[in-house]
Amino acid sequence: MTKRALINVDYTVDFVAKDGALTCGEPGQAIEEKVVSMTKEFISAGDYVVFAIDAHQEGDKLHPESKLFPPHNIIGTSGRDLYGKLAQVYEENKYKENVYFYDKTRYSAFAGTDLEIKLRERGIEEVHIVGVCTDICVLHTAVDAYNKGFSIVVHKDAVASFNQVGHEWAIGHFKDTLGAEIK
Ligand code: ZN
Repeated sequence: MTKRALINVDYTVDFVAKDGALTCGEPGQAIEEKVVSMTKEFISAGDYVVFAIDAHQEGDKLHPESKLFPPHNIIGTSGRDLYGKLAQVYEENKYKENVYFYDKTRYSAFAGTDLEIKLRERGIEEVHIVGVCTDICVLHTAVDAYNKGFSIVVHKDAVASFNQVGHEWAIGHFKDTLGAEIK
């Protein structure tokens, strides 16, 4: 059977909550149940579940995003906490060997991280991606997964963006250009 992983991308307070620093707003909040149920399902099935979470240092002028977006997911702030019920799911499972929470500093969950090493050492060939934003961090993660030869599954009810046009475009791109299965 194909070994699979679930990549939870940036489902944090700053990206999802009503008052988050860089929020997707209602579309982000609307996927909570699906993100939570999939995360539970993958954990209990023994599949590898990662939380790839944006981490920025306060006042980091060298970071390219500082010219593009307001400060968000600052290390040490509650804006980096997982949003809603996902926080509890992580708390209850964080010491399991198939659960991994790590910092990323770029859009892609692969950029400058050990995610690829973790996936390869487990023989994982298929990555399922959930979280936000569909057309930014989910997109860049999917592009890297494609370039590294992983099969990709995107759950369209478990990704969201503040930009509905961008969301729709990205779903088409996953399917038509990255060969992803859209569920
Ligand atoms: Zn960021």
